[in-house]
Amino acid sequence: MLVFDKIKDLKKCLTDKKKTGATIGFVPTMGALHQGHISLITISKAETDFTVCSIFVNPTQFNNQTDLTKYPRTPQKDIALLEEASCDVLYMPDVEDVYPKNDNRQFNFGYLDTILEGEHRPGHFNGVGQVVSILLAGIQPDKAYFGSKDYQQVMIVKELVKQLQLSTHIIACPILREPDGLAMSSRNTRLSGEERKIAAHIPVMMQKAIALIKEKDINAAKDYIKAETTMHPLMKLDYYEVCDANTLQPLKQYIPLQSTISLIAVFVGNVRLIDNWPV
Ligand code: AMP
Repeated sequence: MLVFDKIKDLKKCLTDKKKTGATIGFVPTMGALHQGHISLITISKAETDFTVCSIFVNPTQFNNQTDLTKYPRTPQKDIALLEEASCDVLYMPDVEDVYPKNDNRQFNFGYLDTILEGEHRPGHFNGVGQVVSILLAGIQPDKAYFGSKDYQQVMIVKELVKQLQLSTHIIACPILREPDGLAMSSRNTRLSGEERKIAAHIPVMMQKAIALIKEKDINAAKDYIKAETTMHPLMKLDYYEVCDANTLQPLKQYIPLQSTISLIAVFVGNVRLIDNWPV
């Protein structure tokens, strides 16, 4: 695997590659890689000729400074995992290479930025817009792969690509889970043993809530999630919402043929975890 820390060197490599007619797949990450990230590399390798992964903890998407400083960083292990997955190129820049000058751009993602993660992490999606647009402009991949664990982020990135009229296809990939159902996340490594056990309750609650939506109604599911998270002293609910899966408009009533998604953000100790399940 080739490793670059400068976009100008990566661009030169990719220009040569593109001249051979190779298609480029791109997997942006913030590192502390796990099998969820690797599943994106695997899909990219299956669908394109040359896969580029980036590892960059993007400061502009953190609205909480502690979250940024505590974000796990495991570069040596990441490189080993990417080598094992036969990733072709890793781009691992420092902040200056991505932001040679301050990025003051303000995106307008409209409604999408006013709900759920947008509402609870002000400025987060603007930072995502900044970094993704810079990476896509530098790499110009044919396809870029994003995990559905960050369901709203995929919608934001699709909107970004539309607004900037970029030619990259955005591909949403399935969520990889631990054997007990907890969505894989770099943040899981920050959980203590006890917190990790409590976090395993998230997928259980989400499935029980889906049953309640179908058997009773959405409010019964919301009441259940509130009660369950309040009961656990180490859990604090940020939001639980049931939405139209295509627009993310919150639903009051479940309509069986309407594609529906349930989404949660919950603190376990100091670690904020997100998950989503189709209904
Ligand atoms: P992150 O490093 O957390 O920014 O994630 C980089 C990419 O990996 C994003 O597109 C995430 O949605 C995706 N990702 C993270 N966790 C998972 C998972 N458990 N399954 C599939 N994709 C994931």
